[in-house]
Amino acid sequence: MQPSRPRHHKLAMLALLSTLATMILATAYSLVTVNAKYAKYSAPGMHTEVWQSYQLHSETRRLSDTANRVLAGEATAPELIQRLGVAKSQLAPLQHTRVFDYLPEAHAELPETLEHLDSLLQAWSSRLSWQDTSQAIQVADEMADQLPTMLGPTHDIIVSANIAVASRLDAERHDLKRTFQRLVWVLLLLGTGSLLLAAKLFRDYRHTLHLTRELGTLNQSLEERVAERTRRLEERKALLGIILDSSPSDVALLGANDQHAYYISDTLRQRASTNDSGFLESLFVDSHQYTLFMQRLATSQAFDNWEARLDPRSPYWALLSVRHLEIDSHRAWLIWSLDISERKRMEHELKQLATTDSLTGLANRRTFLRQAIKQLRRSLREANPCSVLVIDIDNFKRINDQHGHQVGDTVLQAVARRLDKHLHPRGPLGRLGGEEFAALVKDADGRAAWEIAEALRDDVECLTLQGEDGRAIPVTISIGIATHSGQDTSPQHLLVEADKALYLAKSRGRNRCETLDQSSPGPSC
Ligand code: GH3
Ligand code: MG
Ligand code: MG
Repeated sequence: MQPSRPRHHKLAMLALLSTLATMILATAYSLVTVNAKYAKYSAPGMHTEVWQSYQLHSETRRLSDTANRVLAGEATAPELIQRLGVAKSQLAPLQHTRVFDYLPEAHAELPETLEHLDSLLQAWSSRLSWQDTSQAIQVADEMADQLPTMLGPTHDIIVSANIAVASRLDAERHDLKRTFQRLVWVLLLLGTGSLLLAAKLFRDYRHTLHLTRELGTLNQSLEERVAERTRRLEERKALLGIILDSSPSDVALLGANDQHAYYISDTLRQRASTNDSGFLESLFVDSHQYTLFMQRLATSQAFDNWEARLDPRSPYWALLSVRHLEIDSHRAWLIWSLDISERKRMEHELKQLATTDSLTGLANRRTFLRQAIKQLRRSLREANPCSVLVIDIDNFKRINDQHGHQVGDTVLQAVARRLDKHLHPRGPLGRLGGEEFAALVKDADGRAAWEIAEALRDDVECLTLQGEDGRAIPVTISIGIATHSGQDTSPQHLLVEADKALYLAKSRGRNRCETLDQSSPGPSC
């Protein structure tokens, strides 16, 4: 199984640290060893045992000669003491040297010789004094007797020292050779470690270089991709801007909490008096409509076809659609507003067409009946009186015949205006068809209705209309009146009653008001 990459790196690092530690230890070992060897071989007086042995031998001989000369009276006690001191000084280093350990075989007589000579020299030295000549002669005698016997052994010491020093030098040469061999290995180790480190450093350097290049390439490609993405986003944003700006709908994207404006299309921006948190409220003409809209916003995630009048400065009807969105974890409202003023105008026009008579502008038959039913029910509910008037222009056919249909239309419009003036404030009024009109007069009992009808009839009679030829057109109307009796009844029933009364008026000579109700006032004109 392949070790995981971090584990591999960990092992490599451990190996590197171990190599470094080994190299440091090896270097320290080499330095310490070289320093120790240097201290050892550069020490003064090294391997001087041969020379010291030779000196000891020579001094023994000289001391013996000086003793003979003292006996012969040629030398003094001080000279003997001086010679003896020199011999002692030559003996001391040899007593402490371990050079004789290097002899191929042990020679016990050598230390014994040195010991014996030392004891002799000490004994003689203790007995000698500068002024005591007789004592000096005695000692010189003993010296002359014993020292020649020591010349042989001291010579042996020279030989042994020679051999021992040679052996020791040989041993040290071997030791030095081994040390150098070790140092060679250490240096090899250091060299290998250095090579390994250099190889690792080189490899790491190349790897780093490779990574840097790769990173550079990646960075460049990332930058290019970001630039490309940014460019595309900008293009899309511009495209979206074009679409939104050229859309027949106005759009606003607002924060749900603070009404922060993420986007507001230009037209909508111009229509509101502010673009901050009061944007929506400033857009509505009617504050009540705004309150209702906000309530709907709070309860519905999405809704369409909400009609409202916007732009207080230049009001128009708008159809609003709302969607709840989430932008960067913030709730937002996407509001579309479509100007439906034209539709509203057409609707109004259609409604007008459907409900009014196009010639006179009064309500048509159907609308009148609907309004009359409504008013009659209300009057019944409130137990108020109300009356129906059916009005017909007298001999209208003759007007048409004498002055033409167009003049007849003008007469119809003029009469309608009078009717409107008298009856519109009092209740529903409409054109039933042809030259026949009807009105429901609220709060009017038979008498009041009669008076209103009479005033109207009188006013129409006073109309001064002229035909195209300049001739005067006398216009009169007949009115049939029916008053709601207080029982359950319908406008149709009242209309029938009023129609009957109208028939009566026509039959009684026209230009008059009639009612079938006996309690109402009789004809007065
Ligand atoms: P009466 O006094 O008995 O009501 O007689 P009249 O001539 O008024 O009644 P008639 O029913 O005989 O004639 C009504 C005329 O009204 C017939 C019709 O041509 C005319 N008329 C109906 N509608 C219109 C209209 O919209 N414009 C014009 N100019 N004439 C109309
Ligand atoms: Mg008529
Ligand atoms: Mg008629």
